[in-house]
Amino acid sequence: MSIKNSITPARQRIAWQPSAKEEIIDFYTNRFERIFAEQAPDYVKDIGNISEWACVSYEGIFVRGIDGKGIQFNTFEDLRDFLLDNIAKAAYYGTGALFTVDIDAKDVAKTGLCELHPKFEDYEIGSAEYNTRLEYVHNIPPRGYDYCFNCIKIAVDKIYQIHDILVKIGADPETISLWFSGQGAHLECNDPDMMDLNKDVREFIASYLSLNGMPIDKVITYGQNRVFRVPGSLHGNVGRVKTRLELGEEISMERVGVVVL
Ligand SMILES: [Zn+2]
Repeated sequence: MSIKNSITPARQRIAWQPSAKEEIIDFYTNRFERIFAEQAPDYVKDIGNISEWACVSYEGIFVRGIDGKGIQFNTFEDLRDFLLDNIAKAAYYGTGALFTVDIDAKDVAKTGLCELHPKFEDYEIGSAEYNTRLEYVHNIPPRGYDYCFNCIKIAVDKIYQIHDILVKIGADPETISLWFSGQGAHLECNDPDMMDLNKDVREFIASYLSLNGMPIDKVITYGQNRVFRVPGSLHGNVGRVKTRLELGEEISMERVGVVVL
């Protein structure tokens, strides 16, 4: 048995931390092209057809086109240079008419869906009770974040449930992709019927999901000029990559964290 395999769970620690500048540069220089080629759907790989690209720079500035004119590129190399020039902590693409759902682990934590800690959505942000409850969450692995690993698992399970709901209302399963986003889960759907839905219908679906216990970011589903994390890009706040999930796949510690001595 190797030393690694003989480590008892009690001695394991899950590393989960923001990416350093050097790690981001290394990622976009050496790894991004391969992961993007493996992971990204054709509609995102069609760089010149994406309405806009955006990012959050290492300094935390949201770099986006102005006056309704998006930043556009024609080649993968242009996109990569843009992310490298800004040392991007987050990379986004304009979703156009794509039907999208976002579940953030932070929202799972707030709403009390996770049995490992109390909810805090009922309290005013910054109030004593809110802070006490938030602090409780900060002490559960990955520690220091506004959610726990179990919240991420719940976000993933919920996105699988939403997949099933969309299929029931007629979406073609072949057009739906599911994602581990870094701090939660995403769904993207390019079924033409779903892409034809107007804002009001999208808003209705978003409200329906929300009222049925899905802590989705509603604006991502119905808002205008939406942007979504680029598949295969690095989530610099946690050092994780947006990657595909197979329907029903259980999210693993290997995926969400790195086990170190
Ligand atoms: Zn939790």
